[in-house]
Amino acid sequence: MRSKHLMTCLAIAASLIAVFTGAWFAAQTDTTIPQATYSEQQWNLIVVNRWNAIPDDYPTPTLTELDNGERVDARIYEDLQRMFDAMRADGLDPEVTAGFRTRKVQRQLMDEKIAEYREQGLSSKDAKEQAEQWVAIPGTSEHEIGLAVDINTRNSTGAADSQDVYAWLADNAWQYGFILRYPSDKTDITGNMYEPWHYRYVGIDAAYAMHGTGQCLEEYTR
Ligand SMILES: [Zn+2]
Repeated sequence: MRSKHLMTCLAIAASLIAVFTGAWFAAQTDTTIPQATYSEQQWNLIVVNRWNAIPDDYPTPTLTELDNGERVDARIYEDLQRMFDAMRADGLDPEVTAGFRTRKVQRQLMDEKIAEYREQGLSSKDAKEQAEQWVAIPGTSEHEIGLAVDINTRNSTGAADSQDVYAWLADNAWQYGFILRYPSDKTDITGNMYEPWHYRYVGIDAAYAMHGTGQCLEEYTR
């Protein structure tokens, strides 16, 4: 009897440990966020945001390196180059200041932001909440799939230096398959603040359609 009782206790303890370990791992890998749907045919339309994490089956992208060392998914490179050529022809001097990022780098960015708020005296819970307003939760950043680029004026010291680049992109990026991913009037739908520098490749057909209707990616793919 006693050994049977002991076995039951051990079994319960083991399953409790399994549950807690599982929860801990889930928290570490942010898999508590449901995964986005990925299809190879519509790779350009994947919706990754704070409610839809990069799926585990998302293939490791083949990357192309830019002159400044930033990298992007090879499939967007040609259109990105065409867009940059057009911007330069219009007298601008743009630069991709952020392309592909590994999960590790995204996590570092988040940790740095949280530390910044902690230094200002916020509790760890509040610091995390504030940081998540500015930095995408690791596993939910479009930079981790290589289809997004932050574009600013080369060597700019602040957003003020890049206003002409942002204006050009807002008017023309759709012609090259890129969309302003986080418009100021769609923050509730995208879950992200307005970012005039962050452009996402969706392909020319989708960008053309979205430009016509004024839809953001979440609306377009619904
Ligand atoms: Zn960005």
